[in-house]
Amino acid sequence: MTQEVPAERNFADRLARIRRAIAENAAMAGRDPAAVTLVAVSKQQPEERIAAALEAGQRVFGENRVQEAETRWAARREAYPDLRLHLIGPLQSNKAKDAVALFDVIETVDRPKLVEALAASCKSFEKTPRFLVQVNTGEEPQKAGVIPEELPALLACCAANGLAIEGLMCIPPLDEDPALHFALLADTAKRHGLKSLSMGMSEDFDTAVRFGATSVRVGSALFGERAPRQTAAIEGDG
Ligand SMILES: *Cc1c(COP(=O)(O)O)cnc(C)c1O
Repeated sequence: MTQEVPAERNFADRLARIRRAIAENAAMAGRDPAAVTLVAVSKQQPEERIAAALEAGQRVFGENRVQEAETRWAARREAYPDLRLHLIGPLQSNKAKDAVALFDVIETVDRPKLVEALAASCKSFEKTPRFLVQVNTGEEPQKAGVIPEELPALLACCAANGLAIEGLMCIPPLDEDPALHFALLADTAKRHGLKSLSMGMSEDFDTAVRFGATSVRVGSALFGERAPRQTAAIEGDG
């Protein structure tokens, strides 16, 4: 996906523009803008941009790798007690413990083995993160997330393991109208009595807000383009 370089030179201006867009789209849908959390996706971004984001008052960040997030954020917890970290990438069961220790919200619960590992990890910590289930709304074979048909069984598995699920997350297929997927996710959450909806990225967060997103995950539109990764590590353990 090609991303345009954000027009504004500084983070604070881009942040203000995106907050304004969130507020406008929430208003269009008759929603309270305060009900939408802006998650700044900081993966693969250089330190100086993270510093600028913190300087501008941003406190909610999304990362897609446990190790990378640990390196970047663990030492900052004390300086920023109101920091909130979201895991938005696939999680291997053997990293469940590290993820529970570091993150405030884990958005990518998607299979029974991971549910069990997370439940066990929560037992050994005082703090329990908030959890969302990632739904593969486009049923793309290469993508993480539970397919819609298997969601009820996974939610039952979460309940059986005492893992409280607060909502759903999705990443629509690149070549499809995201609105269809946002509508599907919103409808699915409603049917299951789940309140939180993590949907919408740089290109479509405005649409997601109109469809009921309670959090949007915005990376490049806030920070600028990401540097490519050095290594192509394999993620997910099925
Ligand atoms: C990288 C990423 C984002 C941010 O993408 P942008 O297009 O840069 O806003 C959002 N959600 C997930 C799950 C991601 O991995």
